[in-house]
Amino acid sequence: MKILRTIQEIEEYTKAVKASGRTIGLVPTMGALHEGHLTLMRLARQSCDVVLASVFVNPVQFGPGEDYDAYPRQFEDDCAQLATVPVDAVFHPDPVVMYPSGYATYINVESAITQKLCGAKRPGHFRGVATVVVKLMNLARADKAFFGQKDAQQVVVIHRFVADLNLPVEVVMAPISREASGLARSSRNVYLSASERTAALVLHRSLQAAQTAFSQGEKECLRLKQIVQTVLGSEPLADPDYVELYSFPELADISRVQGPALLAIAVRIGRTRLIDNIILEAEKPCC
Ligand code: AMP
Repeated sequence: MKILRTIQEIEEYTKAVKASGRTIGLVPTMGALHEGHLTLMRLARQSCDVVLASVFVNPVQFGPGEDYDAYPRQFEDDCAQLATVPVDAVFHPDPVVMYPSGYATYINVESAITQKLCGAKRPGHFRGVATVVVKLMNLARADKAFFGQKDAQQVVVIHRFVADLNLPVEVVMAPISREASGLARSSRNVYLSASERTAALVLHRSLQAAQTAFSQGEKECLRLKQIVQTVLGSEPLADPDYVELYSFPELADISRVQGPALLAIAVRIGRTRLIDNIILEAEKPCC
């Protein structure tokens, strides 16, 4: 597996791959890799000739007081995991390589889709995400780029700027990878103590309760959100940041679920902020 650290290294690598007529699948990550990331890598492996992962903790998408400094960094272990897929190359730049002195260009998706959910709670977050993803797509000369439903709003934002900027990249969304307990895999799960880890199971439990009610005919958004809030409220260590339900992928306000809808939550467990979601799909009429 090639390790690329500079702009020149990645540009030369991807230029040579494209010159040989092969396709490139990009999988951007912030490292501290887990099975969820590897699912994306394997998906890329299935449909692209070359898989290029990036491991970069992007300073621009963290707000003041967030966990940029504390974010887990374990590049050697990440490489060992990537090699099992196998991934062909990993781009692992220093922040100064991506944002050298004089850097001044940022991508702002000026839409309601960046104003709600994590956009409302983490001002500037999607500006940072959009900026780094555009740079990575360009450097990777990516034919396809792979992202997880775990960050469903991020996928919506990425679809928006890929369309708006006419980027020649196909965006692929992979389902959420969960532990057997139901806990969505996340690099931030390492912050959790044993008791917090148990408490964190309430996120998935609350979404499942809403899914069950939905399957039994409950379509009122207010009621579905209440069900989630009630389950979250039963866990003393859980402090909900938001519980929201929007149409998907538009993220438009709805009062009843009539088409695909994103039920998304952010919950603090101790000092750790976790997110999770499910997509509620209205059942197709039978026969
Ligand atoms: P991150 O390293 O957290 O920025 O995540 C990199 C990519 O992996 C993003 O597209 C995430 O949505 C995706 N991802 C993270 N956790 C999961 C998971 N549990 N299941 C599926 N995709 C995930």
